[in-house]
Amino acid sequence: MSNQKPPRPRDTLATIPAYVAGRPPTPRPGQQVYKLSSNENPYPPLPGVVEAAQAAVASMNRYPDMGNGALYDALADRLGVPTGQLAAGTGSVAVLYHLLQAFCDPDDEVVYAWRSFEAYPIAVSATGAVSVRVPVDADGRHDLDAMAAAVTDRTKVVLVCTPNNPTGPSVTGAELQDFVAKVPDHVLVVVDEAYREFVRADDPVDALALQKAHANVAVMRTFAKAYGLAGFRVGYLVAHEDVATAVRATALPFGVSTVAQAAAVASLAVEEQLMERVEAIVGERDRVVAGLRHQGWRFPDPQGNFVWLPVGDRTPEFVALSEQAGITVRPFAGEGVRVSIGEPAANDLLLDVAGAWDHQPETAAGER
Ligand SMILES: *Cc1c(COP(=O)(O)O)cnc(C)c1O
Repeated sequence: MSNQKPPRPRDTLATIPAYVAGRPPTPRPGQQVYKLSSNENPYPPLPGVVEAAQAAVASMNRYPDMGNGALYDALADRLGVPTGQLAAGTGSVAVLYHLLQAFCDPDDEVVYAWRSFEAYPIAVSATGAVSVRVPVDADGRHDLDAMAAAVTDRTKVVLVCTPNNPTGPSVTGAELQDFVAKVPDHVLVVVDEAYREFVRADDPVDALALQKAHANVAVMRTFAKAYGLAGFRVGYLVAHEDVATAVRATALPFGVSTVAQAAAVASLAVEEQLMERVEAIVGERDRVVAGLRHQGWRFPDPQGNFVWLPVGDRTPEFVALSEQAGITVRPFAGEGVRVSIGEPAANDLLLDVAGAWDHQPETAAGER
């Protein structure tokens, strides 16, 4: 019998929004172009990291160490936590998928701020859970009171993204402490610290200390941003041992490759040099922020390696002007653009584009 219709996937798949990846720049003859659309680290890998990865390549005929032994040992040593409290994955996005799979039944609720990281609604829908989005305030900050009030009997997980991608601000240590005190014990509070190394605000979050004090707090981190390993896909969770065990149980076996593990371990060994680079990126961020403010721009306080420009309905125009200038930015239709802090020359191009921008028409739609 001829059959033209393939089997149907779960209904929840229809609710999965597409992930819009930051576009690479279009090559332009005679013009240097820069990618400022994915919050990547503009620096190439440090020497020891490349050598460690190259050495690991020689064993590609073997499966990786399924226990991620070397990586867990290095992280445990660095963070001062037992290896049993760690769960690694192919990027912290993968760790989030594993975590939601481990904790959410269909129709359970996951509370997070919005706008926030676009992987959240995708990961929640893929699990079959329900997203409960709590709008960020006018300054692009988490409204933690409203998030606490949004918790119900069905809530299993709350995601706190600090600094928040794409709006930029971080929550303070005191704010997060108050929040955790309000959230019931059956709810797992996941602190997504993808950009923690770039935070220079007063009273920064000490998520590991908070995790130590509260069995329902978990911390998610990544090697993709400050550590410059976006292409290798390594992220991890620090949580109560039972939580970490559950997350490891749903993880793909052999997910993190031997090469990626070797690069991550080598990166921890050259952390001091990496943090000097982070300092330089923060310096560039401060320069860009001062320049933009001087030009009259108003935008939320950026604590990551990116700035958020709320150009509202005129987002496509800003994107086009940026492209002409040689930088690719990340558009959020109708809301604004997120621009990563890159090489100084790339940041100069952003300041050129922003400086030539006439502000009037977008203000109403763009103010947030
Ligand atoms: C980039 C980013 C991550 C990390 O993603 P990886 O999968 O580790 O590359 C996690 N959370 C947020 C908010 C991010 O912006």
